[in-house]
Amino acid sequence: MRRIGIIGCGTAGIQLAYSLKNDFDVTLHHYEEPQNILDGRIRSTQVHFHPTLERERRFSMPDEDNAPHIRTIHFQLGQQKLFTGNLSGIAASMDQRLRFAESMNDLAAQGVKLIHGRLKPEDLLDLIPSYNLIIDATGKTGPLAPFPVETGLTPYQAPQRKCIVGYFTGVRPVEPEGISITVLPGNGEMFEIPAMTDSGRATILFIEAVPEGMLDVFKGIKNTSEFVARMANVIEEHFHPIYERIDMERFALIDENAFLQTAITPVIHRPYAIMDGTLILGCGDSVFLSDPITGQGCNTASYAAEQLYETLITHKESTWDEAVGIDYWNRTKQYITAVTEWTNAMTEPLPEPIAGLLMQAASDQMTADGIAAWFENPIKAYEAFHKHPINQPFPR
Ligand SMILES: Cc1cc2nc3c(=O)[nH]c(=O)nc-3n(C[C@H](O)[C@H](O)[C@H](O)COP(=O)(O)OP(=O)(O)OC[C@H]3O[C@@H](n4cnc5c(N)ncnc54)[C@H](O)[C@@H]3O)c2cc1C
Repeated sequence: MRRIGIIGCGTAGIQLAYSLKNDFDVTLHHYEEPQNILDGRIRSTQVHFHPTLERERRFSMPDEDNAPHIRTIHFQLGQQKLFTGNLSGIAASMDQRLRFAESMNDLAAQGVKLIHGRLKPEDLLDLIPSYNLIIDATGKTGPLAPFPVETGLTPYQAPQRKCIVGYFTGVRPVEPEGISITVLPGNGEMFEIPAMTDSGRATILFIEAVPEGMLDVFKGIKNTSEFVARMANVIEEHFHPIYERIDMERFALIDENAFLQTAITPVIHRPYAIMDGTLILGCGDSVFLSDPITGQGCNTASYAAEQLYETLITHKESTWDEAVGIDYWNRTKQYITAVTEWTNAMTEPLPEPIAGLLMQAASDQMTADGIAAWFENPIKAYEAFHKHPINQPFPR
């Protein structure tokens, strides 16, 4: 059996391990143990839309059935409710701490080798003799391999948002159950997401703050009580419909590690390289890193992981060389272009036709459902923003 080493045990690495383990000899390199992950800090808001959940079923991964069923996207502009769009399938958010730890234990029980240790770029050369292929799935701290940057898809040198996330109790969910998005033009966005965690159900409040804007008020906050108090103030001041659903007596973080502050500079790499004659492929954030504003990182990682699986199955009997890397990139490039350009556009002031579409959705359910579908299929979002199919040349 051909040997594959996967570095990174997150969304991409885990799906890859499940999909590849029956056809290849798979080893997962990880630097956190399952218990440390469970005891550690939250990592994401991790909404998996239905195509991702379908891929998880395809590869017999642990299901997310006990997570709240996300069926809708509620959209507000400032204090004005515009529409509720129906998703075409159920989405779910399950705390990555729980999901990653559970999956790692399950993979180990199914015979996948897990090797503990934080690898450095210089370790890659030492790994090469052990494997026929190495997959770099090291997430946003990666990549370890020298994948070239795709400059055409990488316009920013700095983060466009500050990400501020907490997992809370004491928030009554929106009805019908779903994700609520509030846009405060020029200042950022608030996402409210129902999620399942190790301690039960939680409501995620996720602020995407424009740097130096009026939501960028969490600098220097290090402890839970300050974080909760600041979040309560921001909601009372700027997000009245959420404030009305909060029971302040019960408003608290679900645990002391249930808050996060980060900021991401989006960057897209070409996801293949040859080192010492061995093919290295990239998957997930290590090569396709976007701002979380459109909730696509896990969904992109899952999409790319499935395409990587299909590529390797197609080339199961042939030499694994640069041509295989090119095939993988050709299979993924259109989707990566769509998700990247849509996500980058969402961090900019919304174009006039898109603002018009959001207004139209207030009185037209089909338009509202069409907008909800962007999150399930970013190619539709790209086409709405660019007003032409993705496979036609971009009219510049
Ligand atoms: C605030 C926030 C909200 C988000 N919300 C959403 C959302 O709602 N929906 C969505 O789809 N996406 C969301 N994302 C993005 C999503 O979390 C990521 O895109 C996704 O987890 C990427 O998967 P990955 O496997 O590439 O990386 P990760 O899941 O980060 O996994 C990388 C793994 O590699 C390991 N690793 C790293 N370096 C090394 C090394 N040197 N040696 C060994 N192991 C290593 C890490 O320990 C980790 O386990 C959000 C991100 C953020 C920051």
